[in-house]
Amino acid sequence: MRQGGEWQWNAISFDLPPCIKGRILATPIQLYGVKRDTMNWKASKDREFTVASAYNLARPEEEHSSGFKGSWIWKIDTLPRICHFLWLCHHNSVPVRDVIVSRGIECEAVCPLCNSDAETIIHVLRDCPFAAAFWRKIVFNESQIGTGYD
Ligand SMILES: [Zn+2]
Repeated sequence: MRQGGEWQWNAISFDLPPCIKGRILATPIQLYGVKRDTMNWKASKDREFTVASAYNLARPEEEHSSGFKGSWIWKIDTLPRICHFLWLCHHNSVPVRDVIVSRGIECEAVCPLCNSDAETIIHVLRDCPFAAAFWRKIVFNESQIGTGYD
């Protein structure tokens, strides 16, 4: 209970530990106006609760200090399924063999197509000779279609 700007600690029948008293004393109190106290969510700038702010608060300190670097993905002007696939790649969540092994499932991590390197996401999409041949074929076909319309 507060009277005259001071907490009346003797109004309760027991002694509060100093750490609790310190927290109560450190809590800002409205001294002027008639507006009632409201709940504020300290993890967001506008003090409104959002799931994203709760998620950031729940993550370990070192992760949310660096921030999410993939927000650019959602700003790309393309199909949502492509944005979603890029988001999965950015979070290392495409189930290629290297990701599966890193999650504790026993399987061979080597690429079954080329048998020369680990099957990582970047290997499957770019570095594997079979992927490179696929991309060259698509680019070649696109250039063939392009010359047909000229
Ligand atoms: Zn390969």
